[in-house]
Order: sequence, then structure tokens, then C-alpha cells
Amino acid sequence: MRLVLLGPPGAGKGTQAAIICRHVGIPHISSGDMFRQAIKEGTELGRQAEKYLQSGSLVPDAVTIGLVQERLSKPDCRQGFLLDGFPRTVAQAGALDAWLAGKKEKLDAVIDIEVPREELMVRLTGRRVCRRCGATYHLQFNPPRETGKCDACGGELIQRADDTAATVSRRLDVYVEQTAPLIDYYRRRGLLKEIDGSRDITTVTRSIGKALGRDW
Ligand SMILES: [Zn+2]
Repeated sequence: MRLVLLGPPGAGKGTQAAIICRHVGIPHISSGDMFRQAIKEGTELGRQAEKYLQSGSLVPDAVTIGLVQERLSKPDCRQGFLLDGFPRTVAQAGALDAWLAGKKEKLDAVIDIEVPREELMVRLTGRRVCRRCGATYHLQFNPPRETGKCDACGGELIQRADDTAATVSRRLDVYVEQTAPLIDYYRRRGLLKEIDGSRDITTVTRSIGKALGRDW
């Protein structure tokens, strides 16, 4: 099964990706891991990607697409794959489709995990970190016993700059802006499976299974 997974930060993509891959028996290919691996292995494309990343600039599509093709050509992808973090743009999606078509293959489905923005804000801004030992908490899902104080060491709990409402809100805006055309692209091709990600993990997993014609 060849799948693409979409969803905003905080939608629980990582959790669902792991479960789907276990059920289907395919590798979870996240673009972050893919870049790190290629850089570590020192492949030609890995070296190129590293150059861009080190200079803080965007890795060009040609390099990213090349890396994806290299990764999807490995033996563990013979039964399929789940892509996470790629494609990010319609151009990348088109390149993926064209490459698969060249091998007489195609995507089976694009899973889009959707969570209302207010819920994402709660999930993403509730994180607190211990200033002393680095332990992490969540105001709603994993609160400390005593407000503002680390259970483990008694240190002060702080909110990281990445987790403030303003930063989270901007990240979500960027996601929506970047992803809307991609969602449209896959919807037109009849591949998009929209999943309500606001429910508990098991329910979300089950509805993904149903969308894929599997009874999990
Ligand atoms: Zn602590």
C-alpha cells in the first residue's frame, strides 16, 4: 500500500503513522529522518541537501525529490510505504506521481488527519518544560502534581518560545497556506481520505482503517 499522510502539527500524525505502518507492514518514511539518513550515509544527494540545510536555505525540489526516489527504491518499500512530510508542494506531488507512473505504480490513498484549530492550540500551547531537568508536562494531558513545579526535581516549569500562542498560531497558518493546494490536488484525484483527528487515538486509527478498506 502506497500512502501519503497529511496533517497539521499536533494532529497526532506520528502516533498514527506508527500504528498504520505496523498494521500494513510498510516503512514510515518521514522527510526529516530521510534527510538525516542520507546525510549520515554521505550519498551525493545527501551531501547536496546538507549544503543547503547548513546555509539555512530551502532544499530545492530536485534534491528532495531525488532523495525520496532513492529512499523509495530501497527493498523495504517493495510492499509500499507511508510518506510523512513529503510532498509539501503540488510540484513535489506531481513529481512523485510521475515517478510512480513510470514504474506502473500509483498512490493508493492520501490520509489527511484534521483537527479543529482551537483544539490544536490547546494541544500545542499546553506544553511545559522543567527549567532544571528538562522533564516535559502538558497542562491538560500530563499536568504536574503542583502547578508550575516539576514532579521530578521541583524545578520551575516554563513555556518554550516555540510553544507560545503567537508562535503556534503562525505555524498553523503556514501549514494551512502550504497544504491547501496539496489537499486540493489530491481531492481532485479522488485520493483524499479526510479523517477527524479530534477523537481518541483508537477511534482515529479505526477510521483510518475503514477509509483504507481495512478492518483494524
Ligand atoms: Zn525537573
